[in-house]
Amino acid sequence: MLFDIDGTLLHGRPEGHTRAMVDAMARVWSVPVAPDDVWAVDPAGRTDREIARLVLRGHGVADAAIDSGIAEWMIIASQVHERVAGDHPAPVAATDAPAVTAGLVAGGAEIALLTGNLEPIGRAKVAAAGLADRFGPGGGFGSDAERRSDLVGVAMSRARRSHAHGDVVIVGDTPRDIAAAREAGVRVVAVTTGAFAAQDLSEADGVADGLTGAVALIMA
Ligand SMILES: [Mg+2]
Repeated sequence: MLFDIDGTLLHGRPEGHTRAMVDAMARVWSVPVAPDDVWAVDPAGRTDREIARLVLRGHGVADAAIDSGIAEWMIIASQVHERVAGDHPAPVAATDAPAVTAGLVAGGAEIALLTGNLEPIGRAKVAAAGLADRFGPGGGFGSDAERRSDLVGVAMSRARRSHAHGDVVIVGDTPRDIAAAREAGVRVVAVTTGAFAAQDLSEADGVADGLTGAVALIMA
C-alpha cells in the first residue's frame, strides 16, 4: 500500500517545503522566484522536479539549463528545508494516520511512501508529524523521477517482498495520483482530505473521506 504525503497522510499547506524549493531555485538558477510561483503552477499531485521545471520555465529558464542544475537543486532544497522547516507551521498527521498505519503494519501489510516530495523533505515532514517509524527505507519520491507514474516502479523495486501489480494500491488525494496509478497499472483509492472533492476523484477505484475509510475499501 503506497501512501501519498500531502493531503493524504498529512494535512495543511507545506509552507516550509515550498520556501525551501524556491530558495534553492533562486540559488541554483539565479531567478527571482517566490512561493506564489509554486502555488501558481497547480502543484497538487505534481512531483517536486516537475514543479521546479514549470516554475523555472515561467522565469525563462531553458530545459537544458533546468536539467543541468536539477541534481544540485535537490541537494540544496533538502538542506534549506532542514534549516527553515521550523520557521513555518508544519503539516500535521491526519487524525487517524497513526492508528491506520500501525494497524496495517501489525496486520502484515507492506506500506511505503509514494510522493512527489524530494525524499529528505518528505521523510522530514512525516517524521515531524510523528509517523517516521511506520515507513521503512523503501518507497518512491520526487527525487527518484520527474514523472509521478515512474515512482510506482521505483517503490515496487524497493519493496521488502515481491508484489504483483494487482496487489499494489495507491492511497492519494489528487487526480494526478489516480493518473499515475492508471499509467503504472496499479489500483488507487482516493481520499477527499486534500484539495479535491469526490466528484473530482471519481476515476479512482474507490473514494473515501479519510484514511480509515480508504483502508476499509481496500481490505473489502
Ligand atoms: Mg497529495
